[in-house]
Amino acid sequence: MSNDDQELGITESKSYSPGDWYAEVVLKAGLADYAPMGGFIVTRPRGYALWEGLQDHLDGWFKETGAQNAYFPALIPESYLERESDIVEGFDPEVAWVTHGGHDELDERLAFRPTSESIITPFMSQWVRSHRDLPLRLNQWCSVIRWEATDTKPFFRTKEFLWQEGHTAHETEEEAWDETMTRLEQYQRVFEEVLAIPVMPGRKPEHDKFPGADTTTTVEALMPDGKSVQGATSHYLGQGFAEAYDLYFTDENEDERVAHTTSWGLSWRALGALIMTHSDEQGFVCPPTLAPEQVVIVPIWQEENREEVLSYAEGIAEDLEEAGVRVELDDRDERNPGFKFNEWELKGVPVRFEIGPHEVEDDEITVVHRPDGENVVEDRADIAETVEDHFDAVFDKMYEAAEENLEDNIREADSRADILGTIGQHGGYVKTAWCGDEDCEAEIKDQISAEIVMVPLDRDEEPCGDECSICGDEAEETAYFAKSY
Ligand SMILES: [Zn+2]
Repeated sequence: MSNDDQELGITESKSYSPGDWYAEVVLKAGLADYAPMGGFIVTRPRGYALWEGLQDHLDGWFKETGAQNAYFPALIPESYLERESDIVEGFDPEVAWVTHGGHDELDERLAFRPTSESIITPFMSQWVRSHRDLPLRLNQWCSVIRWEATDTKPFFRTKEFLWQEGHTAHETEEEAWDETMTRLEQYQRVFEEVLAIPVMPGRKPEHDKFPGADTTTTVEALMPDGKSVQGATSHYLGQGFAEAYDLYFTDENEDERVAHTTSWGLSWRALGALIMTHSDEQGFVCPPTLAPEQVVIVPIWQEENREEVLSYAEGIAEDLEEAGVRVELDDRDERNPGFKFNEWELKGVPVRFEIGPHEVEDDEITVVHRPDGENVVEDRADIAETVEDHFDAVFDKMYEAAEENLEDNIREADSRADILGTIGQHGGYVKTAWCGDEDCEAEIKDQISAEIVMVPLDRDEEPCGDECSICGDEAEETAYFAKSY
């Protein structure tokens, strides 16, 4: 075995040491590297291609629904941040400050944006005069910095991360609420239709809202290790930010009114969820919707039939390319097929074509699915169409496995001991009746670091029991407890 062969394998176990396994997949699949500063990563081209793929889908949907892209400075004057006190309090411990320009100390410190409400809303207020300027919907693709003291986990926990942040202003609460839900639905869709991960839409409890928001909604995804990931959030901000930044407009009667605003964001944590959910002990598993290469063709030749096999493989690659399929023909001489199989499995290519002298002779192709190794022999003719069915089949397998994990891991509990025992034993979500008091959550959090990751979106939904499972007071809503990333 050469050194290369050893380097290819994933040595950590997904079941027994999911954290180490995850880091190994990210590094060995060539998605990211650790930066010299703790908390930062370098996104390699293969990792960045995933982000671009996600971006393509979401950005299209945003634009179809009225959002326009813009770009605001990465640095925000301290006095701007201070105008909305909840933002200051909420983010203060995590803000990175620029204090010098060259050798000179700045008159006013500049925050590297932890989020951009405090620089975007003041400009919206300049651009909005009357109700005819509304709704105003802006989005920016950028990075933010939140200086959290925590272990670096590529794509899940990093001090700087890539995201998009949408910011909108509306005449009425109803319109702003509709906007909040439109974005939440788009996030649900990107998880379910692009990342092959089912999610649960919900609302964050009052004490865990975005600072200054009226309502924070979330899509939560369950990872195979039983922890929940907050996939993306969409906030109805009420009128607090508009008031703080003078975002007023004149209505039909020439009366001055305060706008209602929203903000919504999805970060590259979605990629972390993707890698964590689908990958296995051979490496990364990526759905065809996002894979930088959807098909890899591995020709298998002997010296005497090399030309024949290779030219057959090249013809197939051309057909696929013409049909818009992202295809890679691995015709390297110096590597044997077994090595190539392992390498492309590690890199997550969802579909492999194996082509040897038999395939050439019978005008066929052996098609192998990455997630489960299933192989099917297909006719060479119409392969550019047939391959789409394989993409769908691979996607469905991935989605169904994730869905089964979710469905099997939502359990109910009706006492403090039951909540602790159920999460302790199984992980996953525990649904329970809750009084709405943060102290009751703290009792669980202190014991097993599980928290309320969401409550139902509908505020009027009846709680799943009459009494809070923790304190026995009257229940106000259903809480979903889980450990989370
Ligand atoms: Zn309680």
